[in-house]
Amino acid sequence: MVAGALLKSTKSSLCLLQCMKAVVSQSRSFTSQLNAEQLAIQELARNYTNEHLKPNASKLDLQGLFPFEEIKQLTNLGLMGACVDQEYGGLGLDYLSLAVAVEEISRGCASTGMVVSIHNFLYANLVNERGTPEQKERFLSDFTKGAVGCFALSEPDAGSDVANIKTTARQDGDFWILNGKKSWVTSAVEGAATVVFATFDPELRHKGLACFLVPLDAEGVFRGKKEPLMGVRAATACDLTLEHVRLPNSCLLGHSGEGFKIAMAQLDQGRIGIAAHAVGIAQAALDTAISYAKERHAFGKNLTRLPSVKDRLTDMCIMVETARLLTYRAATDVSTKNSSMAKYVAGRNAAAVADHCVQILGGRGLSTKFNAERHFRDARGTQIYGGVTDIQKRLVGHFLLKEHNAL
Ligand SMILES: Cc1cc2nc3c(=O)[nH]c(=O)nc-3n(C[C@H](O)[C@H](O)[C@H](O)COP(=O)(O)OP(=O)(O)OC[C@H]3O[C@@H](n4cnc5c(N)ncnc54)[C@H](O)[C@@H]3O)c2cc1C
Repeated sequence: MVAGALLKSTKSSLCLLQCMKAVVSQSRSFTSQLNAEQLAIQELARNYTNEHLKPNASKLDLQGLFPFEEIKQLTNLGLMGACVDQEYGGLGLDYLSLAVAVEEISRGCASTGMVVSIHNFLYANLVNERGTPEQKERFLSDFTKGAVGCFALSEPDAGSDVANIKTTARQDGDFWILNGKKSWVTSAVEGAATVVFATFDPELRHKGLACFLVPLDAEGVFRGKKEPLMGVRAATACDLTLEHVRLPNSCLLGHSGEGFKIAMAQLDQGRIGIAAHAVGIAQAALDTAISYAKERHAFGKNLTRLPSVKDRLTDMCIMVETARLLTYRAATDVSTKNSSMAKYVAGRNAAAVADHCVQILGGRGLSTKFNAERHFRDARGTQIYGGVTDIQKRLVGHFLLKEHNAL
C-alpha cells in the first residue's frame, strides 16, 4: 500500500525502493517490532534526517528560523499527511509509521519534528478522521500539499484545566461567532488553518465545548508575536485573538457539545506524537554523548573506559529504549492510559538523557558549538506541551484504578 501511494512522487518512490533494500542495514534496536512498511518509512525519514536536518538543525535553532524548506521537502516525501487517506493526498499509513517518522525527524531537528508531529497528529489526523467530505476538501486537501495546520486548545487561563476555556462560540442562524484568546498555538505564525475549541455555554463546563475549523486568514483572526522559547526554537508558538470571527455551520467539526470529547481523544494521539518526538531528542543526545566519549581522553583513557561514563551511557540507553517501547506500544494500541504513560516516560527520560549528555561533554556540554545544550533545551518542553507530566501521571493512575474497580 505504501509503495503504491509513494509512487505518486517520483522522488519518494526512488527513495522508498532504496529504503526497502536497506531495511536491515541499521542496527538501532527495536526494528524487529516494525513491519516492512513501517521500516521503509523509518528508513525514508532517517535518510532525509541525516542528509538534510542534522547538518542544519543548530543554525535553525540558534537563529530561530522556521524550517520552511524542510517542511516543503517533508511534504514532498508525503510525511505531512502520513495517515491521511490517499484521496486527500495522504499516504494512508498507520500511527506507528507516523510515530517512527516523527522520532527520526526529531532526532535530526527537534523543531522540525515538533511541527510535523502537531500538524499530523493534532490537525490532519483529526480532520481526516472526523471531517465531512466538504470539510476534508476545504481543510485537508491543501494540508498534504504544503499548508500547515494547528491545534488551538490552550488559553491564558486554561492550559491543563481545559474545561475552563473562555473563548465563546455563539450561534447566529447558519453561522457561529467566535470571540476569545488562544495561547501557545504551534505553527500559527506560518499556518493556514487551525482547529479551535470554544464554549457555547460556560455553565456546562466541558459539556459546553465545541470544535471549529478556522482559516487563519479569516476576518477577525489576529496572530500574536512568536513566543521566544527555551527549546525547539525554530518551531513557533503564538497567541491567537479571535474577534467576532464569523464561521458558517460547515466549520463546526462534529456536533456542538462534543468539543471536549474530541479534544481528549485527539490528545491521546497527540501525546504519541510528543512521546515519539521526545524519543528522537533522547536518541540524538545518546548519539552525541557516545561519539564524544569515544574521541575524548581523560586520565590517559578514553572516556568510554571510565566506569562512571559507561554507567551514564548505559542508563541513557535503557531510558531511550524504555521510552521507545512504550511509544510504539501506544501507537499500536491507542488508549489514554497507553499514550499518557508513553508521554510521561518519554518526556521524563528525554530530559534525563539530555542532562547526562551535557555532563559527558563537560565544559563543551554548555557550548552552543556542540549539540548537547540544544538537546537539553529541546528535551525539557516535552514534559509540558501536549499535557504536563503531572497530569499524565494522574491519568495513568486513574485508568489503573478503574481497571481494578478501585476508583
Ligand atoms: C512550545 C509550546 C508549544 C505549545 N503548543 C500548543 C499548541 O499547539 N496548542 C495548544 O493548545 N497548546 C499548546 N501549548 C500549551 C501547552 O499544552 C500548555 O502549556 C500545557 O498544557 C500546560 O498548561 P499551562 O501552561 O497553562 O500550565 P498549567 O495548567 O497552569 O500548569 C502548571 C503546572 O501546575 C501543575 N498542575 C496543573 N494542573 C495540575 C493537575 N491537575 N494535577 C497536577 N499538577 C497540575 C503542573 O506542575 C503544571 O506543570 C504549547 C506550549 C508550549 C510551551
